[in-house]
Amino acid sequence: MGPAIDCDVVVIGSGPGGATSAALLAEAGFDVIIVEEGPALTLDSCDDFSIEEIRTKYRSGGITAALGKPRIPYVEATCVGGGSEINSGLYHRAPEDVLLGWRESHQTRDLLPTDLESHHADIEHELSVSRMSAPPPRSSLLLQDGASALGWQCIEVPRWFKRDPATGVDRKQSMSETFIPRALRAGARLVPNTRAVQILRQRGRWAVRATRPGSDGRQVEHKLSASCVFVCGGAIQSAALLARSGLSRMAGRSLQLHATAKITALFATEVNDRNSGVPVHQVKEFSPAIALGGSISQPPHLHLALLDLDGGQELVANSWPRMATYYAMIREGAGTVRSVPGIRDPIVRFSVGKRGLQQLLQGMERLGECLLAAGATALFPSTSPCVAVSSLSELRQFLSTIGPSKLNAMTIHLMGTCPMGEDRERCAVDSFGRLHGHEGIYVNDASMLPTSLGVNPQGTLMAVAARNARSFISSGPDRHAR
Ligand SMILES: Cc1cc2nc3c(=O)[nH]c(=O)nc-3n(C[C@H](O)[C@H](O)[C@H](O)COP(=O)(O)OP(=O)(O)OC[C@H]3O[C@@H](n4cnc5c(N)ncnc54)[C@H](O)[C@@H]3O)c2cc1C
Repeated sequence: MGPAIDCDVVVIGSGPGGATSAALLAEAGFDVIIVEEGPALTLDSCDDFSIEEIRTKYRSGGITAALGKPRIPYVEATCVGGGSEINSGLYHRAPEDVLLGWRESHQTRDLLPTDLESHHADIEHELSVSRMSAPPPRSSLLLQDGASALGWQCIEVPRWFKRDPATGVDRKQSMSETFIPRALRAGARLVPNTRAVQILRQRGRWAVRATRPGSDGRQVEHKLSASCVFVCGGAIQSAALLARSGLSRMAGRSLQLHATAKITALFATEVNDRNSGVPVHQVKEFSPAIALGGSISQPPHLHLALLDLDGGQELVANSWPRMATYYAMIREGAGTVRSVPGIRDPIVRFSVGKRGLQQLLQGMERLGECLLAAGATALFPSTSPCVAVSSLSELRQFLSTIGPSKLNAMTIHLMGTCPMGEDRERCAVDSFGRLHGHEGIYVNDASMLPTSLGVNPQGTLMAVAARNARSFISSGPDRHAR
């Protein structure tokens, strides 16, 4: 191991939380090093939602799961830009009821909609948050058709996409397109393929022990030394790193996520093609408890969705242009992330609870009702075994037989493992992301959001991360760094 590399702030992780933090701190004059476990790949290095993307940008090839009943598979990105490189780009501001709830439940301070207004506006400008310039996919419009036939509230969700003048195509404004280049222009150094394994106190500064593969494939250890560390590895990894480093007894005690259950629908006419993008409509009639939306429905995704249906693979092969998958999402449940000495990956557990299970089944019923109203001729719920139903009464009857072990749930929204707030019995960090009990360690990613939001989380976490970084900057370098 060579000598430690010095800087003012080490940012661990380059997802939406880390990239936002690094850009703002570097622009304010801090000497910043971003350590990222994954590789630096451009947005164009593979097709969106392809097998190649799963292979190169997902942690463990996407095979990660929270233990519980039902077991909940989850997805984390591992690449420069984190989840923003692989996600759908659907943007929501922080819901007001959630912010007010945090003030009561976790004693958050100065975190109401008015406190986030300017930060949301900046993020929306930087990421070009807007409605799609092209018509939404047919499968998305069908959700809207079903909702309007039933008199339910449905919205088109804006996305972080910008029209590329050279190609005329909308391009995702991920972190590798926006905040990472901004951080680098301001002098930040980016170290990809490098994993922070421990944070420790040494001679009045913070040391980050990190490993990266050497030329012979073996892990080589590096050390970084800084006055401050921003931990932004995402909800699972940030909690695991803090626990592994012995820095917080609260980190990992309170995993939150949005559990989703899906239904694939067959229609009489074509609703899908090879260029069908991300569905942008969401049914809000039952929000905040339950939200309904559309999933990516390319043939490989449909094949996976019907894995447990007898004859499902042939059906997809022959009929995929008439098929699409939709989800019901809830915000109930709680879990934990535990680090075990000597084992690389943490043990993740989650229970949706009795009420959560009821909401998931109720959400599937509402989703089925909406899809039948939109003209679906058959529905295939994400259960094991999977069956075909073609009426609401059949769906109700089938769902009444489904217990937790038969439900195939999943999630792509993880948060809450290092909740922020002034209540030290519940919170790992204070209302501005500073680790309770330690000077100079901050958490500034989805981990800090105290509870599930009920809406796609990246907009909220980026606005809060920008607010926390600006608070850090304005409270003065004398207090925090150098
Ligand atoms: C398929 C998919 C679709 C989604 N769609 C949407 C959507 O439409 N809208 C929305 O709002 N949200 C969406 N999300 C969720 C959104 O992407 C996440 O909420 C967001 O990326 C979380 O940001 P983060 O900064 O907390 O962590 P992450 O994005 O997870 O980034 C963390 C980064 O830190 C790195 N890292 C972790 N540990 C270490 C370590 N020890 N050392 C060095 N580096 C480390 C990781 O490699 C990763 O790159 C989606 C997620 C997925 C997976």
